[in-house]
Amino acid sequence: MGEESAGLPMVGHDGQHYRFNPGALCLELLVSGGAGERAKWEVLHRVADLRDWLTHTRLGPARIRMSAAELAELKVLRESIWFSAGRVASGKAPGAFEDWNRLAQAPPPVPELTGQGRRWREPISGAALLSAFARDAIELFGGPYRHRVRRCAAADCHLLFVDTSRPGARRWCSMQRCGNRAKQRVRQEATRGHA
Ligand SMILES: [Zn+2]
Repeated sequence: MGEESAGLPMVGHDGQHYRFNPGALCLELLVSGGAGERAKWEVLHRVADLRDWLTHTRLGPARIRMSAAELAELKVLRESIWFSAGRVASGKAPGAFEDWNRLAQAPPPVPELTGQGRRWREPISGAALLSAFARDAIELFGGPYRHRVRRCAAADCHLLFVDTSRPGARRWCSMQRCGNRAKQRVRQEATRGHA
């Protein structure tokens, strides 16, 4: 499920900037947009958009060589991960994962060690990128953290994450965002109670 990250930069409907760490690479993909109502959040319009977006994910910056057909396939994969994550967060079994096993057969991106640290052998092919997301989805939805996939506890927030913390008590997409809003609500209610 990849290493820890600072989180993806997000902007709330009220303009608040915050960071959201979904806890797994495959769940990071869900924040890049989607079908239907989620289309308004789309950031992956062209293959060229991938590089910037990946910079904030667990994969990190990399040059990608991908066809338009492979980008379309990435979006199909994104929908199936969205579908499964929603089901699992509601206590059901994952579904629509038939393509994951096929995509995971391709070799994933190849890491290289340099004096400055780790980087990817570039360019990463479309097949390798698809494989990375499919493998991560298989690991998450077939592994021990499957029961830790949750929706943010805020009623008006639909973000999905996997709680990888030791206590397993994560409720919010982000403490900066929904966690803080909940705290403020509690404080306001307490003030009203004493008035
Ligand atoms: Zn939230």
